[in-house]
Amino acid sequence: MKQKGWKELTPGAVITEPGNSVKFKTGSWRAFRPVWIEDNCIHCLFCWAYCPDMAVRVKDGKRIQFNYDACKGCGICALECPGKKGNKAIVMKEEGKQ
Ligand code: SF4
Ligand code: SF4
Repeated sequence: MKQKGWKELTPGAVITEPGNSVKFKTGSWRAFRPVWIEDNCIHCLFCWAYCPDMAVRVKDGKRIQFNYDACKGCGICALECPGKKGNKAIVMKEEGKQ
């Protein structure tokens, strides 16, 4: 997306285009990346409910892979994930490392 110069901004930076947040890829802010361990997932959807950025995708009532364009790496999903028998289904890893 093309960046605007300050002369192009609205007075007071008033937002005149509701819903424009979909254009921002908050995933570019991320320092840590949530990694889903499917074998440990019980599809409780806590991660979907708690994620502030709607970055956990769900299909047919089952959790599927993250939308990494929207995930800013806050780690709430990993904190809230109960996993299977105490084994977390989401772990946070430093971005750029395996
Ligand atoms: S919170 Fe954990 S166990 Fe529940 S759906 Fe998300 S990844 Fe799976
Ligand atoms: S790390 Fe934060 S933003 Fe990313 S999926 Fe988890 S709860 Fe959502």
